[in-house]
Amino acid sequence: MAWDLTSLRDRIERWNGSSIEEDLSRYQPGLSQIGQLETEMRNLEDFALRERSSDLRRRARADEAEPEFVVEAFALVREASRRALEMRPFDVQVLAGLALHEGHLVEMATGEGKTLAAVMPAYLAGLSGKGVHVLTFNDYLARRDAEWMGPIYRFLGSSVGWVEEGMSVRDRRAAYACDVTYVTAKEAGFDLLREHLAREPEEIVHRPFHFAIVDEADSILIDEARVPLVIAGRAADAGLPDASAVGIAELVHGLERGRDWATDEYERNVELTDDGIARVESLIDRGNLLSSANLELLTEINCALHATHLLHRDVDYIVREGRIRLVDEFTGRVVEDRHWPDGLQAALEAKEKLERRPGGRILSSITLQDYLRLYPRLSGMTATARPAAGELKSCYGLDVVVIPPNRPSIRLDELDHVFTHRAAKHAALVAEIARVHEQGRPILVGTASVEESEELVGLLREVGVHCQVLNARNDAKEATIVAEAGALGAVTISTNMAGRGTDIKLGGAAEQDHEAVVDLGGLCVIGTNRHESLRIDQQLRGRAGRQGDPGTSRFFVSLEDPLIVRYGVNDLIPAKIYPRPQQEALENPFIRHEIARAQRIIEGQNAEIRNTLNHYSKLLEEQRRAVYRERRTWLERRAPGRLRERSSERYQSLAKDLGEDYLAEAERRIVLFHLDRAWSRHLARAADIREGIHLRKIGGDDPLVEFTRAVADSFREMRLEVESEIVKTFESIEARAGGVDLEALGLAGPTSTWTYLVNDDPFRDQLATALGGNVGVGVAAAALAGPFWIASTAYQYFRRRRRQPSR
Ligand code: ADP
Ligand code: MG
Repeated sequence: MAWDLTSLRDRIERWNGSSIEEDLSRYQPGLSQIGQLETEMRNLEDFALRERSSDLRRRARADEAEPEFVVEAFALVREASRRALEMRPFDVQVLAGLALHEGHLVEMATGEGKTLAAVMPAYLAGLSGKGVHVLTFNDYLARRDAEWMGPIYRFLGSSVGWVEEGMSVRDRRAAYACDVTYVTAKEAGFDLLREHLAREPEEIVHRPFHFAIVDEADSILIDEARVPLVIAGRAADAGLPDASAVGIAELVHGLERGRDWATDEYERNVELTDDGIARVESLIDRGNLLSSANLELLTEINCALHATHLLHRDVDYIVREGRIRLVDEFTGRVVEDRHWPDGLQAALEAKEKLERRPGGRILSSITLQDYLRLYPRLSGMTATARPAAGELKSCYGLDVVVIPPNRPSIRLDELDHVFTHRAAKHAALVAEIARVHEQGRPILVGTASVEESEELVGLLREVGVHCQVLNARNDAKEATIVAEAGALGAVTISTNMAGRGTDIKLGGAAEQDHEAVVDLGGLCVIGTNRHESLRIDQQLRGRAGRQGDPGTSRFFVSLEDPLIVRYGVNDLIPAKIYPRPQQEALENPFIRHEIARAQRIIEGQNAEIRNTLNHYSKLLEEQRRAVYRERRTWLERRAPGRLRERSSERYQSLAKDLGEDYLAEAERRIVLFHLDRAWSRHLARAADIREGIHLRKIGGDDPLVEFTRAVADSFREMRLEVESEIVKTFESIEARAGGVDLEALGLAGPTSTWTYLVNDDPFRDQLATALGGNVGVGVAAAALAGPFWIASTAYQYFRRRRRQPSR
């Protein structure tokens, strides 16, 4: 049952003095006051409750001292939730709500009811009339949560909306105009990018940002943080097939492993050997492959090598309807509108013999991290925050507040089974799944890739075990399947986090066999791999044992797993005790310990890379804000601006013929056009600078200082360019009978735009390898929004030149 206050207070006291914020005593007074209002609220008629809500709204809008309204607002939501949804927020949910309200990162276990907890602070912040975004993990959840929680908001007279991919501008604007809006960070970020290309104020869908509550926060704030959201545009004539990529794919296909090209021992990086370089030079008549004239060609060859040998169909991408679709490394899910950067995408299309999709010009981009930092108030919730506490603090200024479960967790997290080789691990997995399945106990198996899922399904079929597979195709459908993962006899195989956000109830979604499954020991979670991030492993474990349910979790690991091999964990095990291949699980605790240690090291490295990237993007973000502020004033401007001063003679003569209003409109469009174009160019220049920087690092300079100086210069240049181009365009205006034809002046925007995400993860490793011990991880910043392999090509080029100065 729900905790009573005394036992909660007991536990609160016991947590005092622990390292992360587990001390909840600060919230105790608020919690008590909300509790004291409960009887009063319960005795009110529905209409009276609504009246109190509108009264609160009036007061909230009149003076903005939100804290005064916290107790009343939370008590109203608690009662409204009880009436509208028959769920009375537990004390722990109220605590979580209070922490969210204060802008913290709340850790609360899976199944504890974060969705409802967020309604309290969201309702309260929405009263201000300034809008609140609840940022969900995917589109399906945006809609589900808005519809699920909608009755509470509406009961209290607040409006709620949701946004999903493909929605019209009108519907989006309506959704953002609501008091509370459920939307993914990705969609909200794309809307921001789109509105920065707006020609008219009506195209703007967002209101000024106010407050965001991020669900599955570690995934968005940490794992996906570096993913750039990109908006690209195409002029009408782009899109010719890329003949060179096809030729290069064939060329690379004819090269031999070991002789012409080699990967590093962890298959993270691939490059031509000296023999391979000589061979390519003899096959194509372009002279010295390492001359600077051939840098682009070398880059294309590297892309082709990477596409051919390091990216695997059905692991890293799938081909559907004649298109490459990327599989997200973290979720294992197919991501519809995510691309690799152009060069690699082209190489992949050539490898798969697909029609080349036209590339486009990047008009603007922003990383999710930078997007999220635009909210003046930010808070978040997730089941796994503690391991990332340091980064959440340093990067977003968020403190982690740990909320205890409503009922203590009794899940058993068992020690990993470690095997020497893959085959032994798989045999043991199949035997264990078959054994547990025979009892009728439900099993959820978490795999690392689509390929592994398929393999396991095949093996299980051989022993007569039928299972459901979630390969990340359709969020809504997967949610229905995952919801049944706790049913009697269910075996569900799922890539990482597919179906995240969906509650797994014991005995099935309707809990028809709840008792039977409880008697069997609850949900049995099995992981087939350790992930790079401990948090992802914990997410998987957390699928079992929700709200005090019984359950177990265990990982099966082999010394041939990608994590172990790619990161060289083997090397940490002394040769003395390195085991010989055997069928049974290893008993040595030392090996388990080393795997855990490696995971911590990898996580630390990844955090460091993100931190560096962060430094690199700071200046650009400041510049972005400045440009957008200026753009916004021009967008909404209806009066003449500075043309009069910029070019006064011309202005006087045109004003005579055309009128001041007309010139104001012309100026507005001219400025917008040139600002946008210059910004796009500046971003491209910044990407180039990042790539060049790392060569300079080899020369001993501090890359960040160099980068900052160069980007600041580029920005100054950009401002000057904009000024002179505006004047130039203005001077070229001819006053004709019909006025001015702006399109004829070449001021039309791009004919079409599209948005996508760039997942640069595949190259992070490559860069790390390329840079090896020579330079610090710091230069991984080259990855920010740009193609890693170019950096790696440049490095390769540089290194070989050094080694063979005569070539
Ligand atoms: P989380 O996001 O923390 O994993 P959810 O918000 O999906 O959890 O909620 C998990 C389950 O708990 C849902 O089935 C929901 O109906 C139930 N639940 C949440 N809060 C309450 C409550 N106060 N009373 C009863 N059931 C609740
Ligand atoms: Mg949830």
